[in-house]
Amino acid sequence: MSVTRRRFCQSALIAPTVALLGEQSSHPTSGQEPRDSPVVNYMLRYFIRTETAKQQTEDLIANCQQNHIRHVILFSGNQWDMGWNLPTLEEAEARVEVLRPAVQRLRSAGLLTSINMWTTIGHADIGRDERQRFCWQFMVGDDGAESHACPCPLDPTWKSYVAKLYGLFAQLEPEIIYFDDDFRYHNHRPVTWGCFCPLHLAEMARRTGKHFSREELVERILIAEPQPTEERTQWLQLCGDSILEATRLVAEAVKESSPKTHMGLMCSNPDVHAAEGRRWLDMVDAMSVSGHQPVLRPSIGSYSEDTYRDVARNLGTMRKLQLLLGSKMRFTPELENYPFTRFSKSVRLTRLQIALSMLLASPDVTLDIHSFDETRFDYDTAIDGMLRNSVGYFSGVATWAAECGKERGLQILWDGRFPMHRKVNGNRMIDLPAPECWEGVMDLLGFATTFHPDEVKLASRSYLEERSEEEIRKVLNGKVLMDGDAVTLLVKRGFGQEIGVKSCEPVEGANYEEMTNGHFAGKFLNRDETSAEAYKYRLDPVAEAIVVSEMFGPARSFSVPGMTLFENASGGRVGLIPQNGSRGDLYMLDFRGWKRQAVLKRMLEWINKGPLPLFVEDAPNVCPFRRDGEKAVLVGIANLSVDPLPHVSFRMARPFEGEPRIEYLTPEGKCVQLKVQGTMQEDYLYLRTPVQIEPLGLACFRLTPA
Ligand SMILES: [Zn+2]
Repeated sequence: MSVTRRRFCQSALIAPTVALLGEQSSHPTSGQEPRDSPVVNYMLRYFIRTETAKQQTEDLIANCQQNHIRHVILFSGNQWDMGWNLPTLEEAEARVEVLRPAVQRLRSAGLLTSINMWTTIGHADIGRDERQRFCWQFMVGDDGAESHACPCPLDPTWKSYVAKLYGLFAQLEPEIIYFDDDFRYHNHRPVTWGCFCPLHLAEMARRTGKHFSREELVERILIAEPQPTEERTQWLQLCGDSILEATRLVAEAVKESSPKTHMGLMCSNPDVHAAEGRRWLDMVDAMSVSGHQPVLRPSIGSYSEDTYRDVARNLGTMRKLQLLLGSKMRFTPELENYPFTRFSKSVRLTRLQIALSMLLASPDVTLDIHSFDETRFDYDTAIDGMLRNSVGYFSGVATWAAECGKERGLQILWDGRFPMHRKVNGNRMIDLPAPECWEGVMDLLGFATTFHPDEVKLASRSYLEERSEEEIRKVLNGKVLMDGDAVTLLVKRGFGQEIGVKSCEPVEGANYEEMTNGHFAGKFLNRDETSAEAYKYRLDPVAEAIVVSEMFGPARSFSVPGMTLFENASGGRVGLIPQNGSRGDLYMLDFRGWKRQAVLKRMLEWINKGPLPLFVEDAPNVCPFRRDGEKAVLVGIANLSVDPLPHVSFRMARPFEGEPRIEYLTPEGKCVQLKVQGTMQEDYLYLRTPVQIEPLGLACFRLTPA
């Protein structure tokens, strides 16, 4: 039985106990989008080498047909080394002629075809010296490092060239033409952060009326206290302007060659882009010149397997971009397995990442799973088998997610503002982006999080330092938990009274923490949790504050207040954790434990005056998600451990009145109704299920009123 969008939705609604998803058998048909197509849309990125283009095209078609791939994205370059740096326009013309018959053949086989421009500025020198081939200004780093391959984005010669380059490839009439993520100022080895070339120094002199050497300019940009320098303001404006101008030129050239083509953009961490002045909404506008919705390819993260726990934190890039651009761009998230064998990433983690992309973002997923050098499909075929076997499961996740559009969770406060007030500890531009603070922290402890608006907020220094007094007051009048670095900032800015502390200073040697408040500690009363490795603060709370824990010095030589709670005069409820999240200390292993989890849960319930959106019990290192729809609520729980998670149990703020009916999507993609009775416990709907989540599995549950 074919897995189709229509059939899955209908079946899921009217016949939940029936096995819905069988073996996938539909193939694209010649020349048109199949009518009954799987919901999941695999978009395969692939290098076609000039010397073997014809055979590779046939192999590619066969591979797509076997693995239910309907959309291919061909790299503009030839292969890894040959395509690494920018081609001359003559070389590009020749390359377009190589790709032209391949694109025609792919289309005749029913495949949608897009182009991934492998280089726009260039990723890195990797030993190349292009000074004989191009006469433009090359990029110069903040430390004076000179690239011999990557151009300066201000150079008029490059701007004219790059528009022509895109215009040439647009002649292939791709569905989408993607910038790769080299279209940025940072990370062009040997240049860590550009561009401080003579063109940039001259333009800054023109804009500010002051002449600076490179060293002086970097210093002036990085100084920000108490107010941003004019140089930082002008610098971010200049860098944003230059990227925007190039985007406009490229989009117009593409429109000229191929009016139907959509502009696509791959990007990096938005916190890093904020530190190079990227103006996202203006870029969306520039890329919409054709009248077609532009496309974004954010990274799902975790290019290879380091620790599984990091999967939760690395999703932050995509989730932040959804907050900014989710309503304005089509999302085609990027799965990337560089260098593309199971030595880099397992089949299980690949499957989990695709499933998470379906759950969070879109049925469209771009797959970078084949080597840039080794372009044969029989080299490592394990991922292909998984793609074939998971069509039903991925389609099921995407269908349920589409039905439930509103994410719920503890809200990590974030937006795309530039780091205008950030005080930089260092002398390099790479020190400027806002650090991560709460990303991945509460997820691993079992709490669903979101970047979208919700009741309980998690605040960091880097978010608060870009707010006005009024904006900060609004946060403090609500429900918020923050770390010690955020407290330090607020005390300095005169908000001590609103958060219930008189002072906040660093303290050394407070090596362990005891849960000393019976109401919040429960069974963990007077038991210890280590805090040895963290950078900590000595809070001086007001008398009305609730001290939840205390931190002790060696051999109990001294004690200082630990986590505290306070209700301010405006009714705002504030929780403080005296550790430094900006430094990454909330993400440290030391921070996670059963005692910390239990006490934080009670603190958050006190802050919220009620139950939390979603909490998973007895489940170390998970990543839970809750999505509410008009007719159903979706709970997704990823197991980021190599231990299975038996009898998955969770509690959630009641999604609707009455008894819930609960359905589960099996790993085979079957929708089954669970014989589980929900019970109400402390205002939570509590569900204990018979489901076991395999290592690196994602379990999805759909709740509807019975
Ligand atoms: Zn420059």
